[in-house]
Amino acid sequence: GTSAAQGRSAVLEELILQDPGQFRVLTGDRPTGRLHLGHYFGTLHNRMRLQNLGVETFVIIADYQVLTDRDIADNLTEYVEELVLDYLAIGVDPARSTIFTHSAVPALNQLMLPFLSLVSVSELNRNPTVKDEIAHSRQSAVSGLMFTYPVHQAADILFCKANLVPVGQDQLPHLEITRTVARRFNERYGNGTPVFPRPDALLSNAPLLLGMDGTKMSKSRGNAITLAADADETARLIKGAKTDSERFITYDPVTRPEVSSLLLLTALCQNRAPEQIAAEIGSAGAAALKRTVTEAVNEFLAPIRARRTELAQDRTHLRRVLREGNERANAVADATLAEVRTAMNSHY
Ligand code: ATP
Ligand code: MG
Repeated sequence: GTSAAQGRSAVLEELILQDPGQFRVLTGDRPTGRLHLGHYFGTLHNRMRLQNLGVETFVIIADYQVLTDRDIADNLTEYVEELVLDYLAIGVDPARSTIFTHSAVPALNQLMLPFLSLVSVSELNRNPTVKDEIAHSRQSAVSGLMFTYPVHQAADILFCKANLVPVGQDQLPHLEITRTVARRFNERYGNGTPVFPRPDALLSNAPLLLGMDGTKMSKSRGNAITLAADADETARLIKGAKTDSERFITYDPVTRPEVSSLLLLTALCQNRAPEQIAAEIGSAGAAALKRTVTEAVNEFLAPIRARRTELAQDRTHLRRVLREGNERANAVADATLAEVRTAMNSHY
């Protein structure tokens, strides 16, 4: 569960600081829209920190996985470029981090086939995140890709032998499947030498940031504040945020999730404690809270937004970053696929 993963994350933090060279990170996002504050505080911030500590980092733009919960991938090229723009704006450094797209690395996808043979249908059926995503799906019917995408994700992570995956809470069940796939592959085909690591999730202190409607902030649920939004749009979104009928503002994530989430957002932007912000607002109520959040978010995002606007001028650069990232990812994936074939003693 989440609290076990949080405990493990604290241990990992120590190990990373002691020896960053032992770790390799894979993380990524689906090109279904622009990155938002849930991404930022859930995983992006951790990714940046790890990259800057010298941990080798791979960032996947999971374009094939767009098709898990919708029939057609709309505006794919645009969304992919917007993601690269978001990454560069927050400080992902293409010299140290490999940014690539799923579909540009065919060997990665070839790993999925043997991996699928390592999990049972009932294991896939039990996955709570898949159930939640089916509930929010825009698909006309649930596709096979929806059920198997945690295995697809195992291939995303294991192709580069990543052992550390900075993610939000919703990804924990998928990480469990990746760990199962790695263990079973090693047992079946490793001949005593493990081929794959068993990757750990790295949770941040905001593993599930809520959106303006009080459910998980998501690109495709229309409840997100994106990094790219302007100050006015941000103000409008926060003004419309769901709160509750209690006048006095208190921080209590269990009984007052919406109000507490706004307080947490402010706290994260200002690097302060949410309880303290609640105490300062107190009887001034929800309207004052919303003004405080708006100011904090806009101030926090201003430098990222300015950098983003500047970077958007040079589309050629964006495409070059992606081309070079794809090349590097392909070399790594080819090497892993060759190793897998040898281990399986196959002629596939
Ligand atoms: P979509 O609605 O299209 O699925 P999303 O907002 O869920 O988009 P993903 O690309 O699926 O974004 O997720 C990318 C990463 O960001 C994952 O590691 C996920 O756990 C994390 N993440 C997404 N939303 C949040 C959130 N609200 N709080 C914390 N982490 C999040
Ligand atoms: Mg998602």
